Amino acid sequence: MSDKKRLFGTFGVRRTANDVLTPEFASRLAACYGTQIKGTVAVGGDPRTSTPMLKEAVKAGLLSSGCDVVDLGILPTPGVQYAVRKYYDGGVMITASHNPPQYNGLKFLDEFGIGIPDEMDFAIEKLYFDEEPDRVPFNEIGQIYHNDKIIDEYVDEAISKVDAEAIRDAKLKVVVDCGCGAGSYTAPYLLRKLGCEVTTLNSQADGFFPGRDPEPIEENLQELIKVVKELGADIGLAHDGDADRTICIDEKGNFVLGDKTFTLVEKQMLKENDGGIIVTTVATSQAIYDIAEEYNGEVIATAVGDLLVARKLKDEDGLFGGEENGGLIFPDFVYGRDAVMTVAKILEILAKEKKPLSQLVSELPVYYAKKMKIECSDDQKEFVMSSIAEEIQNTTDFELDLTDGVKILKDDGWVIIRPSGTEPIFRCFAECDSQEKADEMTAWGIGLIKKYKK
Ligand code: MG
Repeated sequence: MSDKKRLFGTFGVRRTANDVLTPEFASRLAACYGTQIKGTVAVGGDPRTSTPMLKEAVKAGLLSSGCDVVDLGILPTPGVQYAVRKYYDGGVMITASHNPPQYNGLKFLDEFGIGIPDEMDFAIEKLYFDEEPDRVPFNEIGQIYHNDKIIDEYVDEAISKVDAEAIRDAKLKVVVDCGCGAGSYTAPYLLRKLGCEVTTLNSQADGFFPGRDPEPIEENLQELIKVVKELGADIGLAHDGDADRTICIDEKGNFVLGDKTFTLVEKQMLKENDGGIIVTTVATSQAIYDIAEEYNGEVIATAVGDLLVARKLKDEDGLFGGEENGGLIFPDFVYGRDAVMTVAKILEILAKEKKPLSQLVSELPVYYAKKMKIECSDDQKEFVMSSIAEEIQNTTDFELDLTDGVKILKDDGWVIIRPSGTEPIFRCFAECDSQEKADEMTAWGIGLIKKYKK
């Protein structure tokens, strides 16, 4: 299939609303997906201004292909994934995650609530461009149902999976910043049910995202950091627009990197379960491997993409998984990045360990990272990667991992060179046992890209 006909990125379709992503586009694409599913499909969305428009279009497309629709309202992406896994045959989430307010997107789910695999992406694209979706006769058009209880069920089930009494006894002081996203409907309620003293920031859902940019990176969380310090809170929590990612601020106001949160929860999960399979991507920290070794875990690394991690967790009956960006996956709850379970688990760790978050983080293995990017046209990416791999193989004895891009492993660290799937750039990311080495190794990786690109 030619590149022109590719609609799907790594997880669904994401575009500017009413540009490519019109009601007509959404409706036809949903009808193509419905043709593949032929069952009951849950539909939910984040609070973006374009979400109601796209949601009604998606529902119409699904109904026309003969699917029944269950409208779940506004809720986090993992809330839809939870509902689909328990009750339905498929799901569509209308969200652009952490992107700016003018964007929106469609995420399609399989019966387990995992983002649909590539084969189904291709089948839907083929129907969309070269064929026609099923349009059923009048007496087979689907029906619309509503389920407004799913949010409570989702939150309550996460609570049932942790030691809620221990968390309540700890009387934690928590500041949560939902960024005016879908987490506004879950995070404050979860925290109150866990007996926390809660202060909310940006927790009225608003599709203009007036409080802050929906991406939970450090520069967007300055207000949260300030409030945590001023209130003397135990922890600050922030979510992205569709509340599948969680970022923590420690009691001193330090931004905790996603790798650290991952490792902290990994350690707890392995201790509680006496080991297990951990799944992550090739771009996450060596610390994950160190903890696994210490606590009887086994690490499996996939290519970058949360749905690849989720699917591997399911196939391998894994214990826990995630990515370096604060997206943690608890496969006995939701087959995707989930924020309510992440928050519940981190509070449980604080309550049981009876140590401040900064101390818990300081007890984890320490590595230093550096990230850079460089422009490179899409048509040169394959050549650049194969040339680098060949050079490393022929001139060094460094170990190579070609799961995703080119990862070069040295004794004191590693560097990964990955082409972006959506932009004409390479990302270069190194991790070493000192910052100086990480900087050097990233520069070396960028140098290798420069050598082979025109
Ligand atoms: Mg997200």
